[in-house]
Amino acid sequence: MGNKQSGGRETGTNDTPVDYLSQQEWDVPQGQTAHDAYQQWDNQGVQVGERAVSHRQDLHNTMRNTLRNTMMAGGDLRQLVKLPAQADRNDWLALNTIHFYKTCAAIFESLRHMCTKESCPMMCAGVTEYLWRDNKNYPRPTRVSAPEYIEFSLKEAMSVIENPEIFPTADDVDFPPSFQEKVREIFKRLFRLFAHLYYSHYESIKDKQRNKNLNSSFKHFIFFVLEFQLIDPDSLAPLQKFIEHIVTKR
Ligand SMILES: [Zn+2]
Repeated sequence: MGNKQSGGRETGTNDTPVDYLSQQEWDVPQGQTAHDAYQQWDNQGVQVGERAVSHRQDLHNTMRNTLRNTMMAGGDLRQLVKLPAQADRNDWLALNTIHFYKTCAAIFESLRHMCTKESCPMMCAGVTEYLWRDNKNYPRPTRVSAPEYIEFSLKEAMSVIENPEIFPTADDVDFPPSFQEKVREIFKRLFRLFAHLYYSHYESIKDKQRNKNLNSSFKHFIFFVLEFQLIDPDSLAPLQKFIEHIVTKR
């Protein structure tokens, strides 16, 4: 828990996915709403974290309904990520952390056949390599394959989300002081999952026409990250050009 991990060798300039992305890829395909595209990821049956939110079901439902309605109406993700007037900041962070964890787990589950130890012997995003470290098996930053790194990340995120001392399960229990740090750690690693997929697998994802889902999920993710400053700008560097493209596109 709360592990620091090496950011790896973050050097040089990178070709970013923005180079691959055309305007059309952001548009909703005919016959499919953004909501549908989003739901495709959201409904893949990753049943994690439900226990942690059951007591806060009202807020959770409100968030999900707002999300769906806004996306169905072609709403602005920039507004969608903002803290609702009646919501507690930590509750909002918790619910969204669970949401993005589930989204990322579903994305990786559907794409893992293309990300193997053989194809990706190290976890990288372009020239940036990420080394794994945890308090159990990897006390020092260690090179692991991309699928291992991603599986470790998701497993650790799940264990944090399911820990009621960090994600309280009772309405009258406060979030611990370390809560936001834990959330930031999860988001940092989920970002690396996106970065790896974009750098190493985007062409294959595009061939299978999964890129629109990936893009809409990442767009939502990055607006949320920026709204709550969950990831340091330096850590966003591998996808910086892409993020600027997303943020400046109206
Ligand atoms: Zn890979």
